[in-house]
Amino acid sequence: MNNLVSNLNYFKGLLLPTTKVMAMVKAFSYGLGTYEVAKLLEENNVNYLGVANTYEGIELRNAGIKLPIMVMKPEVDSFDLVIENQLTPTIFSLFSLKKLIDSISDSNPLVISLKIDTGMNRLGFYENEIPELLSILNKNPFLKIESIFSHLAASDNSDHNEFTLNQIKRFKYISKSISSQFDYSIDLHILNSNGIINFNDYQFNMVRLGIGLYGVCSDTQVQKKLKCASTLKSKIAQIKIVKKNESIGYNRSGLAKSDLKIATIPVGYADGLNRTLSNGNWNMIINGHKAPIVGNICMDMVMLDVTNIDCKEGDNAFVFSDLNPISEMAKKIGTIPYEILTSYSPRVKRVFLQN
Ligand SMILES: *Cc1c(COP(=O)(O)O)cnc(C)c1O
Repeated sequence: MNNLVSNLNYFKGLLLPTTKVMAMVKAFSYGLGTYEVAKLLEENNVNYLGVANTYEGIELRNAGIKLPIMVMKPEVDSFDLVIENQLTPTIFSLFSLKKLIDSISDSNPLVISLKIDTGMNRLGFYENEIPELLSILNKNPFLKIESIFSHLAASDNSDHNEFTLNQIKRFKYISKSISSQFDYSIDLHILNSNGIINFNDYQFNMVRLGIGLYGVCSDTQVQKKLKCASTLKSKIAQIKIVKKNESIGYNRSGLAKSDLKIATIPVGYADGLNRTLSNGNWNMIINGHKAPIVGNICMDMVMLDVTNIDCKEGDNAFVFSDLNPISEMAKKIGTIPYEILTSYSPRVKRVFLQN
């Protein structure tokens, strides 16, 4: 918890004092645990929370979170729940706008967020849809635009800086063309974590901080300033000596070329430990030493070679930690840290530590 707050404060230090922070807590707060993280962020005065779907937002409301919550891709069939739970729906298409209006039974004011597509080509309005958007909004004055935002496709890749600057330019132009039609102030935002680092001049009114909060950044200088916000810890369930020429685990893919001391750890692919890390592709940390995976990762267990490590049953085994970080694990299996963090299953117990 302290490390998470430290990362939040590091990013706040990169922002103007007036820039608001939306903390992204979608996907179980990037795998860490939605309520506890959201509560901590609320206590540390972030301005906004961001979730992906309506149900994630409802979970936070049911847990007592009072901060404004933006839902990035509310299911069109869930707009009644969005309204009931005082969530802010992102409207990204004329279809979603019309569905929202259809599901409103009164004319109480309702805040919405508008998403503009400036080159990601995923969700959001294109420039040519803005006139129709404005005309519908004018006919439904109870809809109040709280923010207009867009998302950068390559904020951490300098090969695409020109493209990114163009996205920002387009965003500025389109958002102005909308906001100038209304007499109230509207928050504008486009920067994610890497955007804050690489395109700091374009904070507008708010930024959307995600992965950086959880201690990961693709900028190596910044990475050094961030703190590891999560480790996955297990304990050695059993240690055995496997004789030379015996095999270890399914399909006998782990072979003992000499007598080996093998530790069985009760974490498997059903917990989120990617099976392609089998057969030496990953090391866990036991008593400060690297212990390679031997054989195939099983559903609920994995075996490690601890022949040269002083250890005993019950000792801690770190699947990932600051010594074997998820950024390295991601490289090993050809993915990004986001996927690693979000793929640890709900049966892995989350424990929150505060100094
Ligand atoms: C997830 C997400 C973010 C946060 O991105 P990070 O790279 O994790 O900082 C920001 N904006 C949108 C629209 C997102 O979906």
